[in-house]
Amino acid sequence: MNRYAFLTTVFLFAAVLTTGCGAPNEAADLVLRGGKVATVNPEQPYAEAVAVRADTILAVGSNAEIEAFVGPGTEIIELDGALVTPGLIEGHGHYMSLGRTKMILDLTSARTWDEIVALVEAAAAESEPGEWIQGRGWHQEKWDEVPDGAVEGNPVHQSLSAVSPDNPVYLGHASGHAAFVNAEAMRRAGISGETPNPDGGEIIKDMRGDPTGLLRETAQGLVGRALAEAESEMSAEERDEQNRTMARLAAEEALRHGITSFHDAGSGFGTIDFLKTLNEEGALPVRLYVMIRAGNDALRERAADYRMETPYLTVRSIKRSIDGALGAHGAWLLEPYEDLPQSSGLNTSPMDELEVLTGIAADIGFQLNVHAIGDRANRESLDIFERTFTEMGLEDHRWRIEHAQHLHPDDIPRFAELGVIASMQGIHATSDAPWVLRRLGEERARSGAYMWQSLWQSGAVVTNGTDVPVEPVDPISSYYATVSRRLEDGSVFYADERLTREQALQSYTLNNAYAAFEEAIKGSIEVGKLADLTILSQDILTAPEAAIRDTRVLYTIIGGEVRFDATQDN
Ligand SMILES: [Zn+2]
Repeated sequence: MNRYAFLTTVFLFAAVLTTGCGAPNEAADLVLRGGKVATVNPEQPYAEAVAVRADTILAVGSNAEIEAFVGPGTEIIELDGALVTPGLIEGHGHYMSLGRTKMILDLTSARTWDEIVALVEAAAAESEPGEWIQGRGWHQEKWDEVPDGAVEGNPVHQSLSAVSPDNPVYLGHASGHAAFVNAEAMRRAGISGETPNPDGGEIIKDMRGDPTGLLRETAQGLVGRALAEAESEMSAEERDEQNRTMARLAAEEALRHGITSFHDAGSGFGTIDFLKTLNEEGALPVRLYVMIRAGNDALRERAADYRMETPYLTVRSIKRSIDGALGAHGAWLLEPYEDLPQSSGLNTSPMDELEVLTGIAADIGFQLNVHAIGDRANRESLDIFERTFTEMGLEDHRWRIEHAQHLHPDDIPRFAELGVIASMQGIHATSDAPWVLRRLGEERARSGAYMWQSLWQSGAVVTNGTDVPVEPVDPISSYYATVSRRLEDGSVFYADERLTREQALQSYTLNNAYAAFEEAIKGSIEVGKLADLTILSQDILTAPEAAIRDTRVLYTIIGGEVRFDATQDN
């Protein structure tokens, strides 16, 4: 069944439910009234009020219609003109990493390399010798100046090593596709001028052949392993405590931003075991759709046993990354980078293994979600997907390409033809825009970068999200980027590819639900669906464009329960 036929079926079903219920003596547990309800249901696009019983939507209608559901025990939220949307769904993020970012140095707002060095110096002063210092979120393109002695536009480790001689330092790039480390970290990892590049990674070296401290893609793992070794000395209790803190911080951050469901783009079996424990304890406040990240052998052996669909934790998909990010020159391109002509990016995981993985996923009926950013990575993924779909006769597979940022124009229609979901992140277009032209040149940028509207018009399902912690888990920022493509300097990045306000809302709700096989229970405000609702301070469908960014989340409601209330938050 194609997507439209499918959605029509859902809507017809919902229409039957709407007429079939509404007996006035059915009192609601919760009523929201006096606002604008944007339902993302074409049969009844707008309403004024919603009634909820237990975890389910009981009725949607005018204030007068919903009045009939108010009983003595009904809790009432007066909307005062606020906007109710279906619960916003983060379509691609990293849940535990989101929590982790709240526990380490935040480098996202640093404007110079020296600022970062100063943050590490302060952290080193407070650390025991030998203790790891971690940070994340730096991006050389956000800095006001190129650091002294830069290699390929990136700093060299000497200043960092000088302020932290006894503490190993690991600073993750905003993209997650590179890390910067100091001399002590390299010493512990055994990295020297003689260390060869690992497969799918690069140890950047200076003119003399000495490592600069920058590690691209899989080379991060060399230091990552030394770090993991240090962490393995933690006791089981300490690790559990740390995991619980991360999960709690992630949930708080998601709820504060109106997120009711979260697609976690890749966790190992160990993390999923931990999340299962939280789920059994009823300690997951946000609904999680977790993709398994593991090697082929482990997936073949274990993935099927992990399949689960529960209200707060669903596992039925696999994540694999095959290239890096555009900002770090890691995206795998058909032609070399405009500003790094010796490179066409990196294939970070062997394609023959991806081919094997498609067979494993097809065998166990799992969705496969492949991270592909460059046009070559996208084409190769689509080719392998196409072969698998044909050979295995897969239907309604809903396999996804995560990011799908840069496409050869010939590949754009293939998403709809093959039924492959374009799992995109609106905010990436405007965050990356300042350097996209430099990386790709005008022709490739215009015809293939962040092609949301072209994909949508071709019939592809386009989703939305932030890839947190690459970007903050803020749906308003990503929504604004999606409908405006406006940069900080006021310019607009290829306006033709903007989505309309309504499309953007659908991308963040119903389309994300579809991408998780959950459109029958989530993604629109309809009778019988889960009462997952986000309440915003203003109408993002009609507000002046520049004002969209001022929108605040007032309430986040999951399964009829208020999980975030801005009036109680300080
Ligand atoms: Zn990601």
